[in-house]
Amino acid sequence: MKRRFLMTPGPSPVPSFVRESLGREIMHHRTEEFQNILSDVHKGLKRVFCTDNPVLILASSGTGAMEAAVSNLFSRNDKVITVNGGKFGERWNQIAKSFSLEVIELKLDWGTSLSKEVLAKALKENKGVKGVFTTLCETSTATVYDVKAMAEVTRENDALLIVDAVSGLGQDRLLTDSWGVDVVVSGSQKGFMLPPGLSFISLSKKAQAAISKSDLSKYYFNLNKALKSYEKNDTPFTPAVSLVVGLKEALEMINSQGIEARWKRFEKMALATREAAKAIGLEIFSKSPSSSVTAICVPEAIKSGQIVKILRKDYGLSIAGGQDQMKDKIIRIAHMGWISEQDLISCFSLLEKVLKDLGAEFSLGASLARLEEVLYG
Ligand code: PMP
Repeated sequence: MKRRFLMTPGPSPVPSFVRESLGREIMHHRTEEFQNILSDVHKGLKRVFCTDNPVLILASSGTGAMEAAVSNLFSRNDKVITVNGGKFGERWNQIAKSFSLEVIELKLDWGTSLSKEVLAKALKENKGVKGVFTTLCETSTATVYDVKAMAEVTRENDALLIVDAVSGLGQDRLLTDSWGVDVVVSGSQKGFMLPPGLSFISLSKKAQAAISKSDLSKYYFNLNKALKSYEKNDTPFTPAVSLVVGLKEALEMINSQGIEARWKRFEKMALATREAAKAIGLEIFSKSPSSSVTAICVPEAIKSGQIVKILRKDYGLSIAGGQDQMKDKIIRIAHMGWISEQDLISCFSLLEKVLKDLGAEFSLGASLARLEEVLYG
């Protein structure tokens, strides 16, 4: 069996101290012991989300919390704006439409971010917009959006600002309360260093007030019920007990380092990744690169899918390729959660080997030298 290492933008590696906690004997969830764990986890999540408001835990992948945001905060035919510059902006569109909302789509060229002016104009031209759905890190293009600027605009309107931070949380800066973001959605399998299976959703007071007005159907993802249970450190249904136990360990680690320190660390790793790629003649795809994942354009003669396949098959290293219009044109390397500086060095060493084997021309070791300069210099 080959050593397997994930440098994909989710799932991402789970450290051994979390894996060990996942294997502990299962406990019953309606007990003081589990409620104490939930209480700690709720406090820890608030610190990572930079909010004083509740952060609910759902047993689903990230998309479940996205769906919950739509089905709990809005009503049939409500007018909403979606920011669509990639696969996950597109997902907001699809969910909103499937719940019969009236969607105004702000389409972006892949790899670009939305300007404050465009959002302000859209809100001015479309009176009565109830919500703006956007993304922190658009994983398909490795682009970070200026959520702070978007919040400045939505704060002046009645619209709720809902941010998909499934891949970005923990790496890309997000100051939920001080920027005025109403809802932040995330998932367990990226910055939180857990297996997939949990999603999270924070709710501002304005968002909590919107729940009572919603007329859309929901049962499992009923956030009103979840909020009532949350107050008692409980959950409406059986929680994913072992994942919550693992989350406690992961949050303790994240918060012992401090979210600010982690943002700075991943910012540096992202910069080092971009510089390393440029040092071997490769271009960075995004005009607004994220600290969670980097998209790198591959030489025209080489298909990125081929690189991804060889790395996984021959070396046990998983990185991601491009999706849709970027299929075979980019590779995506994650720097999130448990992925370290040393992992980046191994990744570029193998990437150089594979690129050379596929006929790319550059001087061997150039990316590694640049990577180390940025990381250690
Ligand atoms: N949004 C973003 C930005 C993501 O990266 C992902 C997962 N790749 C999702 C949403 C969907 O999350 P999940 O696959 O956990 O449902």
